[in-house]
Amino acid sequence: MPEDANATGRTARKWLLTQNSDLRRIGVFNWTLPAFVIEMPDGSHFNVCPQAGECAKFCYARVGTYRFKNVRAAHIRNLLLCRDTPGEFERRMTDELSHKRYSGKWIRLHDSGEFFSGEYLLTWIRIMRNSPGVRFYCYTKEISLFKRLVVNDAPENFLWCYSLGGKEDHLIDVATERHADVFPDVEALIARGYTDQTESDLLSVLSESPRVGIPANRIRHLLKMQGQKTFGEHQRERDEKLRAKKMRADQKFGLVR
Ligand code: SF4
Repeated sequence: MPEDANATGRTARKWLLTQNSDLRRIGVFNWTLPAFVIEMPDGSHFNVCPQAGECAKFCYARVGTYRFKNVRAAHIRNLLLCRDTPGEFERRMTDELSHKRYSGKWIRLHDSGEFFSGEYLLTWIRIMRNSPGVRFYCYTKEISLFKRLVVNDAPENFLWCYSLGGKEDHLIDVATERHADVFPDVEALIARGYTDQTESDLLSVLSESPRVGIPANRIRHLLKMQGQKTFGEHQRERDEKLRAKKMRADQKFGLVR
């Protein structure tokens, strides 16, 4: 019997999109990649989240169940498919999305991982345009990529939310552009005037307010490291330190007076 055959001997379809318990509750399907810098099967390293900044220190997708051998293997399989055989990925994903189980549903891209290249982002844009009966959303730290390739010509069935804690935070206009920040708890995000998305992850793109607050995952050592600051505040602090360091170096070499 083939590995993926069920008890009746019929081959079960292997879906590319999955659901964790939180997303199943709200009827959302999910496409997942590994998070941040990972070792590939050939021993090379690959950064799936090129614009990740401070978020990488507190990333829930680098701990817990995400590190289980079978989970990691599935995420690496996904990455190999879309990175190394983009045409095959586009064909299989478009075909899968035409199945009735996705009709009228939302697909979340990357509960872990990111748009690691322009080519990969454009592949998704074509998949979305060819799947008009399905809706897509994501959080992203790839701000310059989105502003260059998506913002002025986005598919009608795609919504996104910029996410703080990355190297391109400074490109987000937090006064006007939809964005999310991760707070130590719900009380902290409400106190700062953000909308709590605990009830449904879809609030990240559907809430009235463009200020989306996410309470940090209850992972003790990450909570301790994060302290009372948000991801965005950690990133601002790091950007400030880097700026000061650069200025000192420039002064030392006489580049500024
Ligand atoms: S961008 Fe997301 S998945 Fe990647 S390291 Fe940051 S929090 Fe983790």
